[in-house]
This record gives sequence, structure tokens and C-alpha cells, in this order.
Amino acid sequence: MMKRFLILLLVIPASLFAQMPKVARDARTWRQQHERPILGEFTALLSVPNVTRDRTNVRHNAEMLVAMMQRRGIAARLVTIEGANPVVFGELVTPGAKRTIAFYAHYDGQPVDETEWATPPFVPTLRSDSLEHGGQIIPLPPPGTPLGAEARMYARGSGDDKSSIMAMLAAVDALRATGTKLHSNIKFAFDGEEEAGSPNLQAILAANRELFAADLWIICDGPVHQSRRPLIYFGARDVVKLDVTVYGARNELHSGHYGNWSPNPALMLARLLTSMKDEHDRVVVEHFYADIVPLSATERQAIADAPDIDAELMRELWLGATESSPKKLAELITEPSLNIRGMSSGHTGAQASNVVPSSATAAIDIRLVKGMDPRLTQDRVIEHIRRQGYFVVENAPDAEIRRTHPKVAWVERGHPGLGAVRTPMDLPIAQEVVKIVESVRGPAVKLPNMGGSLPLAEIEQPLGTHTIVVPIANHDDNQHTFNENLRIQNLWDGIEVMAALMSM
Ligand SMILES: [Zn+2]
Repeated sequence: MMKRFLILLLVIPASLFAQMPKVARDARTWRQQHERPILGEFTALLSVPNVTRDRTNVRHNAEMLVAMMQRRGIAARLVTIEGANPVVFGELVTPGAKRTIAFYAHYDGQPVDETEWATPPFVPTLRSDSLEHGGQIIPLPPPGTPLGAEARMYARGSGDDKSSIMAMLAAVDALRATGTKLHSNIKFAFDGEEEAGSPNLQAILAANRELFAADLWIICDGPVHQSRRPLIYFGARDVVKLDVTVYGARNELHSGHYGNWSPNPALMLARLLTSMKDEHDRVVVEHFYADIVPLSATERQAIADAPDIDAELMRELWLGATESSPKKLAELITEPSLNIRGMSSGHTGAQASNVVPSSATAAIDIRLVKGMDPRLTQDRVIEHIRRQGYFVVENAPDAEIRRTHPKVAWVERGHPGLGAVRTPMDLPIAQEVVKIVESVRGPAVKLPNMGGSLPLAEIEQPLGTHTIVVPIANHDDNQHTFNENLRIQNLWDGIEVMAALMSM
């Protein structure tokens, strides 16, 4: 009995491997023989500081990437406009190919505070496991020695997003070494300003439409699902911001002498914000939801099929309740949100004094879904503020304005973006991507859009193409904060996914 059970355990992974497409199996075999050089190249790339605003070092990264691609026979060069970090472009032309697939990742990273890191952010450090699980520093293994399943590389950019670049370039090596025939032209675009919101990407692409043209852009950024299952996003939300300030008297007033008489802006602001949502957490700003492109049956089904992680998340995050219950997180991120980012009025704690504050400010962000116009949405919120009896100004109100209107609100608009995009899951090319990812990695979590933002509209608008997000990093990669890391197995898995996608 015991022996049979053991054999079963051994047989199951082997049969899964056998079910994988040949291209992914070949990539795995190739990778297993080349782990040391892959890790060596990855380490070298991570050693170059990449904070977006550190333009000199960002440039070094870009030049290094050009060299890495040229070594592989990929035609590569930097594409930029005045004042921007370059986009690293690369191309593999496949004779007779009828379509082109572009692969996007970014090589810049978030700022670092070295004092918070266990090891310096630009000294890539391999550990046997995550720091949380007592991972110890280990050397790069000698050639032919596999790493443990939980080994991780610690460095800024390891998870977000140089791992994606490394997976793509290693996939090219694997495809070459195994003589895999490609069917599409392959393009690469590595963004150097993603962590700053890709402010120049649209302009760079618009100025080089022909160069960047592709039937599909596969965006490799962000983590896979918390369950470690593969994840495919077909869009992203956009974000637009608004700051609202309401006023009491010209300056703070003694609360004993003037309370009950001088209007209290903190209370006014609380009432104004409360008026924006009903008791079921729905936004009641008029027409807020009016232009939303509804989810298709396929998209609804995909949300229903997503693993239910809400209870576990609540436990982890110390939450006794969630908004819009019983709707789940996977569904709620496909709806727009109106969020108070922060509020301030007067002081609290040791700084509190007995005053009626002079003003109160709320910082609001609105996450937009497909169909919503960013500027029109701001307009609608402003109209709602008017309907609550406020005289709305878009510059700091002077004495005259404040004297002549009972309620004054100063609204500062954040710069509106291009809006949210979402690629229909039913598109044949989208279905093809799903099929490939699932054939390599098993059933994927498929979500119509991610909750956050990526520069998808910046790509789709100038090029008239579609985008699909296929991330590879581990969900606990500490992206954007200290001790960022990549679980090496995610890189290995990512190589197989990228090789399969490149051969589509
Ligand atoms: Zn990223």
C-alpha cells in the first residue's frame, strides 16, 4: 500500500508535466540546465539602481538591457522623447509571420529607504526562504544544483518588474536552444517610467506607431494570485483625484466663545462626504455609474470562478466587516470606487485645542472602470457638491467669495488620465492567451480588470491594439516597499509561460 501511494505521488506531477505543451516542457528542461547563468544575469541586472527619477542609473539599466538583447540577436534600441527615460525596444522578426505580439515590462523601480532593508536594495541577495519564514542568505548555487522551492532573490526590482524581463529573455534563449519555430513577430517594450505613472509612454508610442505596432500587447507586471494560481487580467482601472476644502471663519475661533455660532467646517465636510454614498456603500453622485460598460457573461462567470479569498484576507487584515457585503473583492474591483484618501481639519491628540477649525479638506480618489470619462466624472462629483448648497470654486476663494456665499467649497482637480480599458475575454486572441497560460500553469484566475492602474490606455490609444496582463511574480514580493523579493520558482514558471506565449 505504502509503496503504491508513493508511486502515485511521483506519477502525478510527471503526468502534469507530460500534459504541458512541448514548448513549455522544453523551456523547463533548458532552464534546469541553465539556472546558474540565468541567476547570474538577473543578479547583474538587479545590481544597477533603477529608481525612476535617478535618470543616470535608469539610463545604465536601459543600455544594459539593449546589450542583453543584442547578445541574443534581438534587434534592440532605445526610443525616447525629450525629458523622458527611454523605452527599450527589441524585435525578433519571424519570416512569414502574419501577426505580431508585443511583450511589455518595466525596468524602473520605486524609491528606496536603505535603512529599512535587511540587505541593501541594490546588492541582490539570495535567501533560502522569505525573511518572514526565517530565510538565510545563501550563495548562488554551483551549476547543476537546484534551489529550494522557496528560495528568493531580494533586491529592488526583483519582483516588480525586472523578473518579467528576465523571464522573457531567458524564454528567448530557451526557444533558440531548443529550435522552437516561432509563428509571430515578437516585440519587446521595456518602460523606464512605469513607477512614475508612465507620463511619456503615450507620446513615445504615438511618435513611433509603426515600430510599436502589434496585434496584442502582453503586459507582464505585478503578482500572480494570492493562492499562487496563475492570474490573467484583461484590463485595469484608471484613477482620478479631487481635493475638496470647505470653510468656516477666516481663522480658528475659540470654541467656547463662538461654538454653536460659527459654522464648523469639519462637520460640514463630514456631511458633504456622507452625502456621496448611501447606507449600502453605493455612490449616489448623480450619473456616477451611468456610462459603465457592463460586464459580459464570460466576465461575470470568470469573477464567479475566482477563488474566494475574502475571509482569509479579512483575518489577515484585521477586518470585522467589508464594504458592499456580500459582494466579494473580485467583483468590487470591477466597479468604480469613490475613496477618501485622507482628511484634515484642526488638530487631535496633544495638539488639539478648543477651537472651531477654519477649514477642512478631504483628498478623494475615484477608480474608474471602462466607459467612465475621467473629466466628466470629476464634473459629476463637483455638481453633487453644488447640489449640497456649496458655491464651488476651482481656485482658493477670497474674502469676498466667502462673505457672499453661505457655503463655499474649493475643488482642486487632479490631472485626468485616459480612462480605464478592458479587453473582452471573448476575443479569439484573448481566449488563445488563456488557453496557453492554462496549458502551462493549470487553471488561471481570470479577472476582467485589476483594481489598480497600469498604463494600458497609454498603449491601446496611440496604437489601436489590445492589452492583456499576465503577471509572474509572487504575491508576497513586497513590491513598492522594502525587502522586495522574487520567489525564484516564479521566475522559473514565468520562463515557461513566456516561452509558450512567444510561440503563439
Ligand atoms: Zn510594476
